[in-house]
Amino acid sequence: METSGLVDYHLHTPRCGHAVGDPEEYVDRALRLGLSEVGFSDHFPLLHLRDPTLSMSLEELPHYVEEVNRLAGSVSGVRVRLGIEVDYIPGYMKRTAEILSAYAFDYVMGSVHFLDGWGFDDSRYVEGYRGRDLYALWARYFQVLGDAAESGLFDVLAHPDLIKKFGYRPPGDVTPLYEPCLDRVAAAGLAVEVSTAGLSKPVGEIYPGEEFLRLCRRREIPVTLGSDAHSPEEVGRFYGAAVELLRRVGYTEIAFFERRRMRLAPLPA
Ligand SMILES: [Zn+2]
Ligand SMILES: [Zn+2]
Repeated sequence: METSGLVDYHLHTPRCGHAVGDPEEYVDRALRLGLSEVGFSDHFPLLHLRDPTLSMSLEELPHYVEEVNRLAGSVSGVRVRLGIEVDYIPGYMKRTAEILSAYAFDYVMGSVHFLDGWGFDDSRYVEGYRGRDLYALWARYFQVLGDAAESGLFDVLAHPDLIKKFGYRPPGDVTPLYEPCLDRVAAAGLAVEVSTAGLSKPVGEIYPGEEFLRLCRRREIPVTLGSDAHSPEEVGRFYGAAVELLRRVGYTEIAFFERRRMRLAPLPA
């Protein structure tokens, strides 16, 4: 597959406590694949709970930034961007914004991994799905995702339908949940991430699903690409499937970021 012209904006580092491999190895893998650009977007320190298996600590943040910047300055053949993946946690976003403003990120990804305190994508807490009204749960997720889009903190929404991770889906049509959320995303001017990580999760499907992505396309919401790599071998994983999906729904361009400015470039032929 032609990977020149493609990006992987969702790479982690061992600082988050649940990824392996040196950042150099992630970049080596990207070079071997021929990606044009990669971005590290490790987990920003969680402010509402301290769990060293979920994110770096606040003390580590400057070291993370320095490490990625050093790597970006020393590698040739692939551009390396400085990103960060930030949890949207109501009540903590002002403090988060203050911390973020100290650094020159190329992009900030917003993620919803917690709903009202529950880490719904964490396999340790998967019993939380039992007995739930799944339609109400999904409605809450897409409402919070819309809130995240409107927070003004983010450039990209990561894995936008993460709530499907373990395959707990409400029966019937869920587009009435997607539509108002995506109207908010489009109005806020964010991009959404097309993430291949879902293919290796119980749901076995790219984030977002095809119907969601069609609704993004209809609103001309830009898209970017990521693997959510937590090990070097995962960089650029399943990109053939991602590009095929993008083409199928009519996307011809993907978004690139530098110093928080978005630019669109053609999907490679
Ligand atoms: Zn992670
Ligand atoms: Zn991630």
